Amino acid sequence: MYLMDLNASKFNEVKQKVNTILLPIGMMETHGPHATLGTDVWIPREFVKRLDKIIGEKVIMAPEVAYGHSWALAPHSGTFDISSEAFSNYVYEIGKEFYRNGFNNLILFNGHGGNIPSLAIVTEKLADIGVNTLTINWWMDYREDILTITSKPGHGGEDETSLVLAIDEKLADLSLAGDFSIEYNRKLKYKDMGKVLYKDGYMGDAASATAEKGEALYELLTNLILEDVKDLWDLSASKLLSKGES
Ligand SMILES: [Zn+2]
Repeated sequence: MYLMDLNASKFNEVKQKVNTILLPIGMMETHGPHATLGTDVWIPREFVKRLDKIIGEKVIMAPEVAYGHSWALAPHSGTFDISSEAFSNYVYEIGKEFYRNGFNNLILFNGHGGNIPSLAIVTEKLADIGVNTLTINWWMDYREDILTITSKPGHGGEDETSLVLAIDEKLADLSLAGDFSIEYNRKLKYKDMGKVLYKDGYMGDAASATAEKGEALYELLTNLILEDVKDLWDLSASKLLSKGES
């Protein structure tokens, strides 16, 4: 069920039996000449839609945070970069408000790599006040599985482009897509690095993307995500049990 759709009486009723809330976190940034700036918002949104059909009775789907932190893509036009301090404080405050409203399980469904360090801080701070969190970074957490369907993934690459095409073919223009990759030393960091790493704002073989591959990815990853959600619930149940015992 969606938080946006609940009135206060329904919300209070639902709260009695649901203690898990999911917050999608995206980014508005360039995804090459071919994919839309909202790619990192569209993909979590689609996963949420699919998850809602399966576990929607047990999870409240919150509206997304669409703007995140992107140091790497900030040198490119079409990226709206929020500082990691402002972003992590904001997401922490949202999590704290969910907790104050009675939810102690929070799923952070992240669509963008540059958000990861900020979200790590957020989850530590939330854990300290008693919130159990599950952070999903889909392209990283299930990378080995993704490679069985899209062999050249990346930011705006074959995986992300396929996933948006599966939502709507208008979300990527393959006539503008190419194949870009670069060998680099991940230990280095320097000014405007993103202009080198993401020459045209993307990485990977975007030109090989198809809606069919995207659909296959949604099906595969949704099942893997459900296993992780189950682990969150197992953790939460074991904590309740130990509370009851003491
Ligand atoms: Zn992306």
